[in-house]
Amino acid sequence: MKIGTKVIHGGLIPDPSTGAIMTPIYQTSTYVQNSLGEHKGYEYSRTQNPTRHALENNLASIENGKHGLCFGSGLAAIDAVIKMLNPGDEVISTSDLYGGTYRIFTKIFEKYGIKFHFTEMTDFDKLDDLVNENTKLVWIETPTNPMLNIIDIKKASSFAKKHNCMLGVDNTFASPYLQNPLDMGADIVMHSATKYLGGHSDVVMGALIINDDEIAEQLYFIQNSSGAVCGPMDSFLVLRGIKTLHLRMQRHCENGAKIAEFLESHPAVDKVYWPGFENHPNHKVAKSQMRDFGGMMSFTAVEDSYETAKKIVSSVRVFSLAESLGGVESLCGHPASMTHASIPKEEREKTGIKDSMIRLSVGIEDAEDLIADLKQAIEG
Ligand SMILES: *Cc1c(COP(=O)(O)O)cnc(C)c1O
Repeated sequence: MKIGTKVIHGGLIPDPSTGAIMTPIYQTSTYVQNSLGEHKGYEYSRTQNPTRHALENNLASIENGKHGLCFGSGLAAIDAVIKMLNPGDEVISTSDLYGGTYRIFTKIFEKYGIKFHFTEMTDFDKLDDLVNENTKLVWIETPTNPMLNIIDIKKASSFAKKHNCMLGVDNTFASPYLQNPLDMGADIVMHSATKYLGGHSDVVMGALIINDDEIAEQLYFIQNSSGAVCGPMDSFLVLRGIKTLHLRMQRHCENGAKIAEFLESHPAVDKVYWPGFENHPNHKVAKSQMRDFGGMMSFTAVEDSYETAKKIVSSVRVFSLAESLGGVESLCGHPASMTHASIPKEEREKTGIKDSMIRLSVGIEDAEDLIADLKQAIEG
């Protein structure tokens, strides 16, 4: 099956108790058992819930994986992955990482004796000196946030395999419509389902998709033991969101291309970071591993200052100034003071996050209105 069919049918069956075509919201904490040790596969909703289970199967299907696991947020999903490690273990990750991921790595897990290395992943041959026998996980995001760099997933996978460690890919920015990391050798795919999967800015949720039975078993154990699960209502909302993922993503990509072109040609705009440009440093890799280039981009102003960014984000009328991304509505954000405020200024500037940088999550409105809005905000 192809993606447009899988988002609607993949891993789903009509509700066995009634035939309801849409998975019901099983708003229940427990399940009546027939007799001691005799139940219908559901005992307690931290451990199993039919609505969550339907979503987990659907996610496994659209990411071409065997197992899906859902959590109360994207960070709860990352938390579960790192809990597979032991004190003394080491992780190699990218330097322009989602701010919250950087925070949980450095402020929570370093305390428990896990060591994190942050590096550019443009040339894997240069990373050999960061690896030793304690390295257990390579964790990447592609496209990266907010620089929209592209990391070669197949190369990351060969690197991880060569050094006997797992590769985890945060696929939030691309969504399963644009790329499927498990097909390129990743061991774990992670999503903040809060973003494109949910798609309507009405839910916070995380997910992991895995092929390997043993890794899935460990993560399922952690999901149940740590208990950061999502509720049935939220599972229903994300199931509903996913049914239009392919349609939404098509429009996000079309609008993204038009807006990137507009910004690129505007004299007050300095740089536009979007992997669809032929002169983007990783365009070839993007083209080979993504089906299209998405609606996420960042730009800087010729007049690079906090004030310029402030003027633009205060003047937009169709775009809204807000954290998050991937919803039907267009959002803009200021990485230096918002998503990446928890990354120290020197670290931030090393990776290119300038004070005037604005990140856009281009929504699915009419492109003409979005362009007119940005034009008046930039020129106004
Ligand atoms: C939002 C986001 C996260 C964290 O997900 P939450 O659902 O907010 O916990 C992780 N990675 C990326 C790339 C994100 O955009």
